[in-house]
Amino acid sequence: MNKDLEMDDSNSPGLEMYQLISELYPICRSITGDGVRKTLQIVQHHIPLETYEVPTGTAVYDWLVPKEWNIHDAYVKDQNGHKVIDFQSSNLHILNYSIPIHKTVPLAELKQHLFTLPDYPDWIPYRTSYYEETWGFCLTHHTLQDLTEGDYEVYIDSSLKEGHLTYSEYFIPGSTPDEVLFSCHTCHPSLCNDNLSGIALATYLAKNLSSRSSLRYSYRFIFIPGTIGSITWLSRNEDRIHHIKHGLVIAGVGNSGSLTYKKSRRGNTEIDRAVTHVLQHSGDNYTVNDFSPYGYDERQYCSPGFNLPIGSLTRTPFGTYPEYHTSADNLEFVNQTYLADSFAKYLAIINLLEHNQTYLNTNPKCEPQLGTRGLYTTLGGKQTTPDDRMAILWV
Ligand code: ZN
Repeated sequence: MNKDLEMDDSNSPGLEMYQLISELYPICRSITGDGVRKTLQIVQHHIPLETYEVPTGTAVYDWLVPKEWNIHDAYVKDQNGHKVIDFQSSNLHILNYSIPIHKTVPLAELKQHLFTLPDYPDWIPYRTSYYEETWGFCLTHHTLQDLTEGDYEVYIDSSLKEGHLTYSEYFIPGSTPDEVLFSCHTCHPSLCNDNLSGIALATYLAKNLSSRSSLRYSYRFIFIPGTIGSITWLSRNEDRIHHIKHGLVIAGVGNSGSLTYKKSRRGNTEIDRAVTHVLQHSGDNYTVNDFSPYGYDERQYCSPGFNLPIGSLTRTPFGTYPEYHTSADNLEFVNQTYLADSFAKYLAIINLLEHNQTYLNTNPKCEPQLGTRGLYTTLGGKQTTPDDRMAILWV
């Protein structure tokens, strides 16, 4: 195997990636708002990002950029003034995109706005309501069971109004305008594997590439909210989409599961072959799945009007582990060893792409004269084996 494909963990930034995740973990992110901005400002300490603000109401294909949501505080108090649900103790407690509210409601009415996980009664679920204006709280099932009849004070200090959708890019020019695109989502609150592991891996891959003296490809890293972010990005960059030759959606790269590659919709592009090759030669368990229109932002990149050569490389696929979209996707669920392993495999894929070239014969009419180039063995010349001779003749 080519030396560049070997996976060397000795200089891996596994610990640094984990530290970045820890720093970003407390921030309440959503598809818009200050949590995303704060997140991107922290990433900016590592790589120089170009940040864009797209106004609410901007038409992006069949969608509109939504109102901007920000949250400051939220709680539910019982009749004794005791906070039974408190946003300050976990930002997953708030239904993401909840409208502001302050009123007292009986338990029966409150329950219509509560979400729990009866199968995992100690975990808080992560729920959103981006496109339907409502309010709600997420809590452990145990807490729900402890709520007694009576009135509850519901307080949500949020804002949902005209504003912007925020996303960032980092472009690293190579020797050609042909681009490799890496995309990660930035819209989940305190969730480590789904969201933060992708941001951390993208950041450290970008750092690695920017320190190289020469690159064949140009590399573009985009940090966007899921779905609406990739739709917005595509609509604003349609004129240069043709530069994208390969790409990967980075997500869920910090947990203990083995790597899973979801192919591009075309299924046989160079990135599909490159990822499969690296996984095959890694000596580790892995899975390769065909494209399906459910998942992360590959859904938009591979939509029929673009059909880009972009797949998605994760560890355990989204939605197939119980911790997914719950408070159990926390700082214990990811660790530096798995982050380092994902980093090494992504790097091996990049190195493969950088070197995956075919030489073109510029002298195809008859054999070139080997002797004038010192390549033909004459009597008394250096010893060559029959294999060497045949190799040269085939070339
Ligand atoms: Zn998610």
